[in-house]
Amino acid sequence: MNLNIKDTFNKELPADLNRNNNPRQVEAACFSYVTPRVPSDPKLLHVSKEMLSNIGLSSADLKEKHFLKVFSGAAVLENTDPYAMCYGGHQFGHWAGQLGDGRAINLCEVEHKEKRWALQLKGAGETPYSRTADGLAVLRSSIREHLCSEAMFHLGVPTTRSLSLMITGDEVLRDMLYNGNEAYEKGAVVCRVAPSFIRFGNFQIFAARGDKDNLKKLADYTISHFFPGIEAGTKEGYIQFFQAVANKTLEMVIHWQRVGFVHGVMNTDNLSILGLTIDYGPYGWLEDYDPGWTPNTTDAQGKRYRFGNQPNIALWNLFQLANALMLLIEEEYPLSAVLDKFRSDYAVHYPKMLRSKLGFELREKEDESIAKELERLLQLSETDMTIFYRNLSNYRKNDVITEGTSFLNPILDAFYKPDELTGDILNDWRTWMINYLNRIQKETQSDAERKLSMDKVNPKYVLRNYMAQLAIDKADAGDYALIEELHQLLKDPYGEQPEQEQWFVKRPEWARHKVGCSMLSCSS
Ligand code: AMP
Ligand code: MG
Repeated sequence: MNLNIKDTFNKELPADLNRNNNPRQVEAACFSYVTPRVPSDPKLLHVSKEMLSNIGLSSADLKEKHFLKVFSGAAVLENTDPYAMCYGGHQFGHWAGQLGDGRAINLCEVEHKEKRWALQLKGAGETPYSRTADGLAVLRSSIREHLCSEAMFHLGVPTTRSLSLMITGDEVLRDMLYNGNEAYEKGAVVCRVAPSFIRFGNFQIFAARGDKDNLKKLADYTISHFFPGIEAGTKEGYIQFFQAVANKTLEMVIHWQRVGFVHGVMNTDNLSILGLTIDYGPYGWLEDYDPGWTPNTTDAQGKRYRFGNQPNIALWNLFQLANALMLLIEEEYPLSAVLDKFRSDYAVHYPKMLRSKLGFELREKEDESIAKELERLLQLSETDMTIFYRNLSNYRKNDVITEGTSFLNPILDAFYKPDELTGDILNDWRTWMINYLNRIQKETQSDAERKLSMDKVNPKYVLRNYMAQLAIDKADAGDYALIEELHQLLKDPYGEQPEQEQWFVKRPEWARHKVGCSMLSCSS
């Protein structure tokens, strides 16, 4: 196995001098060296071939014992020095102090085809940041992370990636719903991959401790490696850096709203400084369109991280990052200007994204009211977001709106309760559809062209919550075929894939209230 190792984070930034992994406060350091735990009987369940070649490996490498060892934590690659990062964060709106990589261990960075990739094991044992937990991960959450991060990439959403999924052969005790029902589950390790795993919280921890010196080192490192064109070490550079992070964060969250992804735990330690979707925990996919929905049971009361609130929370988190960078910039105005710009950019880019979903190339004055009324109607009748938008492209400019419900035929599959489409609701849908058809008549694109562009932004296949759960249930029973099937399916989410239509259906009734499908906890 020949990886082009080019470590920078652990070479250029200050290390914790203590090499044991007792839980502790780690001051004045960006990371602590740790050795992954040796699993008792590791097995490779799945690999993303694309990521394999991205980091410069081939299928031949998979057959080597060394691959299994390195990516399960059993062996440390030569000339590498694995480490866990130190960061803090606001959890559910409250400063939580030091958090850090409690169950993630960075192996190394590699360079391939002029791209830098950091490789990180998730679930490979304790670190100084594990606090009272075990540093391990279970199979269910590892399958969810592995499948979803690759699916998100293919949807065009900025995200961390996943190279491999292994079971460790060890048992892990979890109280999945935090209700006193502990049980052993299969342990697993995912190797996730990204240019860098630095989070908002890495900056916050230094600011919270008044450690300007190390905050500056981290900011200069981040800028010089990941923000080409920005000058490190200057106040102007730090402002531009904050602006760039705000832009990337906005772009990411608008993609989430486009595809119906709910992150579930948007704490500041779970926001990547590169604007990548990171930390796939109790995330979920919107099925019936409900902006108030959160998959995370821990958030069931406040619903802070509900679908419709994600853009606000992104801004809230940027505000916290601004507070941290204030120590370097020492002036409030440029930071608040960036936050104001986030608001005004959102007000432009969010409607633009909605217009693309609706097939509007032009910009017309009625667009806003059409989008707004649609949002109301989608909630009024339980409507599947993915199926609705995907099938909306089947309307034609010259379609005639008839009496009864037949005008809804192209999108009828999206309704969970089609029998309830009567009376006022039906009339409101009819009015909306008349307005919609009038609107698309103004477009210069032909019906076929409009369908082509709509189908590029409205995915047909997403990792519905129940799909991941089916793969988990089978894997628990030792059958891993569905992991590969879903992985392949989700590589082409905008394609038609007629032989895969069984995955282009509403959430089945059995999954409506099932644990793992509509309810997830942070336990992983
Ligand atoms: P999360 O909100 O899941 O990203 O986790 C918040 C913090 O808890 C992070 O510092 C994690 O590394 C840590 N953490 C979560 N689960 C575990 C675990 N099983 N063992 C050790 N640390 C954990
Ligand atoms: Mg986290």
